[in-house]
Amino acid sequence: MLDKLGKGLQSAIEKIMNAKRIDAALVNDIVKDIQRALLEADVNVKLVFSLSNSIKKRSLENKPPAGMTQKAYILTIVYEELRGILGENVRLELKPQKIMMVGLQGSGKTTTTVKLAKYFQRKGLKPYVIGADTFRPAAYEQLSVLCDGVGIPLYGEPGEKNATKIVRNGLQDAKNYDVLIVDTTGRHALENDLIEEMKQIHAILHPDKTFLVLDAAIGQGASMQSEAFNKAVGVDGIIITKLDGTAKGGGALSAVAETGSPITFIGTGERIDDLEPFDTSRFISRLLGMGDLQSLMERAKEINVDEAKAEKMLKGRFTLKDFYEQLESMTKLGPLKQIMQMLPGMGIGIKMTDSDYEMTTEKINGFKVIMSSMSEDELMNPKIINAGRIKRVAIGSGSSIEEVRGLLKYYRMTQKAMKGLSGRQNISRLMKKFGE
Ligand code: GDP
Ligand code: MG
Repeated sequence: MLDKLGKGLQSAIEKIMNAKRIDAALVNDIVKDIQRALLEADVNVKLVFSLSNSIKKRSLENKPPAGMTQKAYILTIVYEELRGILGENVRLELKPQKIMMVGLQGSGKTTTTVKLAKYFQRKGLKPYVIGADTFRPAAYEQLSVLCDGVGIPLYGEPGEKNATKIVRNGLQDAKNYDVLIVDTTGRHALENDLIEEMKQIHAILHPDKTFLVLDAAIGQGASMQSEAFNKAVGVDGIIITKLDGTAKGGGALSAVAETGSPITFIGTGERIDDLEPFDTSRFISRLLGMGDLQSLMERAKEINVDEAKAEKMLKGRFTLKDFYEQLESMTKLGPLKQIMQMLPGMGIGIKMTDSDYEMTTEKINGFKVIMSSMSEDELMNPKIINAGRIKRVAIGSGSSIEEVRGLLKYYRMTQKAMKGLSGRQNISRLMKKFGE
């Protein structure tokens, strides 16, 4: 998704990272890279120029706050300016609600209706879909195939021409659901009768949320549609679909942000699972190839790395005992994965799944219990822990062999991360870089 934009921005970031010194020539150079990448992604020219002026001005005229390096400062500016053009996002609450989907024909309304229903289903809420598209031939069949495919109950009346009637009947028929989603008719262009029908359905349904579905390929045209639908029925959130298939995604995203309606989800493929909640910070971090920068910056502020301990770890003498002491601050720092992603090009050679990375309090307590069953030798020299010892520790701590192995895996991973950090810059510097 937006691969090209991401590559362009990442090459600018790399220039910052690799620069020996930061001067006007470098800033101009990276601003040019950023401009080019944004313009190629169809972002509005005016926006692009105001963003690049801002980056230039702030980077050259302002001094970084105390303790922050010039590089980190520029990185922060780029990040903040990009955030500015994508706008704030509002998370969809996971609670019982009624949702009305609106949008032009072909925008991806029907597919997104089912994607959204599946999203709620995955989160443990019971979805129910009403198919109220009376315009498109075989609209009911399309919806029914999609809903059947993922086991979502559907109300529809194939052949019925009165959409408001379907919605009224559907509301009566719907039982035992948490989230009701109504798919509606579209047209090729915004027409009065479409708007009229949306208003009528809106009045009957009283949706908690009205979502406008927009095809990313319309690029900057997104703002016009967003405004028109917003005027007609009020738009609570926008779902931009087909971000996987167009170079104009940057245009659609930034144009929507300008209208003030939050982007709530993005569609990134034809499969029902290809729907992602939209989170501005995360999205930009990913575009920049930097992991979740925002939360890392926030969390880094909360922790105080003990310099002496950090030094020790950096020298590679990082035992299970050190690991034990670090466990708490590591949860505060957040998933190790984010740190790993911040170290460009760091091959770690250990295959970790998302749940491996996840550090819950429960898991930490489990780790502590396991480590309390280890001998001093094992804690100080974890290499000696072979299969026999793993079994003994598992029995001794009342854990499974997998859990003991999980601990060792996480430990090795952390050890590698520490070594990786030492090769580039030390932890306290990293903290300063993002934390102040
Ligand atoms: P509607 O007329 O607004 O209901 O649009 P549909 O849901 O029928 O979708 C139109 C076409 O777009 C279908 O072929 C979908 O498979 C496709 N589509 C929808 N969302 C996405 C997406 O996020 N990515 C891609 N690649 N295709 C999508
Ligand atoms: Mg449809």
